[in-house]
Amino acid sequence: MRPFDYIDGSLSAGQVPLADIAAEVGTPAYVYSADAIEAAYREFETVLAPARICYAMKANGNLAVLRLLAGLGAGADVVSEGELRRALAAGIAPEKIVFSGVGKTDAEIEAALRDGILQINVESVPEVRSLSRIAAGLGRTASVAVRINPDVDAGTLDQISTGRKTDKFGVAWTEAPALFREAAGLPGLSMDGIAVHIGSQLGDLEPYRRAFRRVAELVRTLRADGARIRRLDLGGGFGIRYRDEIPLPLAGYARVVQEEVGGLGCEIVVEPGRRLVGPAGLLLASVVAVKETPARRFVIVDAGMNDLVRPMMYGAWHDILPLDAPPAGADYRPADVVGPVCETTDKFADRRLLPPLEAGDLIAFCEAGAYGAVMSSTYNGRPLVPEVLVRGNGFDVVRARPTFEESLALERLPDWLSGPGGQG
Ligand SMILES: *Cc1c(COP(=O)(O)O)cnc(C)c1O
Repeated sequence: MRPFDYIDGSLSAGQVPLADIAAEVGTPAYVYSADAIEAAYREFETVLAPARICYAMKANGNLAVLRLLAGLGAGADVVSEGELRRALAAGIAPEKIVFSGVGKTDAEIEAALRDGILQINVESVPEVRSLSRIAAGLGRTASVAVRINPDVDAGTLDQISTGRKTDKFGVAWTEAPALFREAAGLPGLSMDGIAVHIGSQLGDLEPYRRAFRRVAELVRTLRADGARIRRLDLGGGFGIRYRDEIPLPLAGYARVVQEEVGGLGCEIVVEPGRRLVGPAGLLLASVVAVKETPARRFVIVDAGMNDLVRPMMYGAWHDILPLDAPPAGADYRPADVVGPVCETTDKFADRRLLPPLEAGDLIAFCEAGAYGAVMSSTYNGRPLVPEVLVRGNGFDVVRARPTFEESLALERLPDWLSGPGGQG
């Protein structure tokens, strides 16, 4: 089942024509398919059982999306106190939450300890020392995994590789034994695991194999040193199709996990983000105008880089589909699809082959459910766009479009500016 397809010439989410959603909530708007998210989660559950699935919620932190996944049994991988609060608010139990991240503050560590989460993944020697001090101060014991940097190139985009020795993430795998020896003498820590996450949007199993092999070697070394490693957090990175990529084969991944670390007797944690929500979402937009210049055809839409930044930030490709199926034999011609933001970089697609479009037509940017809404901003005074969740034949707005008044609500004028006309 594809989450979005044409029904009677109308691009639809399940049975719901996306044009109906646009008519009700306006554009731009994100639309997610609950059925697709559930199907993606079930696939992980089936193929990777009995691994623990901690959804990397930085991919899409919408409360309803989190609640849906919580109901399916998912835990969460969080990277800030804000995400931790959101996960708890959505009903994800603390004992299913892993805290990752390269720069946790003392306040964030304290919050995680007070909430009694499953595991804190530490990424440096100073962080282990802080964690010990804070945990001991609170009279708590932190369950700790050390995120190692395995020095493996994930073969993905430079900007989303995280496991090379020059990347900021993790403790060099060669230095992990020394860290475990130091931690063994510190209070407040239960040194339970190793974590690894080498990058995002991986299509190839080999980098995983190399990283997991390194993890297995390290577990043997650490155990020989007397450490009691009982949990392996293998991260995320499961690639999806945006253009012509082949999604990472999950069954093959499960085989690699089994072959490389299956014999160690450890609980396995995986942290899928993109794969659970990316293909389950799209961004709806309206064509504002089509401008033909001597050099280009510009399709100007009402969504901008502040709503979906992946094309500008990573050079990422998103398929662009008109909501009305183009007639057979439509004249596809190249167009630059651009937003209204006052930046040349506000361009979703360069010389993309598109059918004829005119002002008022609706389009969708596909595979936008991950790293879409979560990365949006209000640049150019543009309110965040609404999010809609479709389930079966119905849909609900799960984040409303803020009013312009709400956009101003947190701002204050200092007394010296608050008189009539400024200059008080
Ligand atoms: C971002 C991230 C993930 C999820 O990555 P995806 O590519 O979205 O699956 C998992 N674990 C950690 C530590 C991350 O930073």
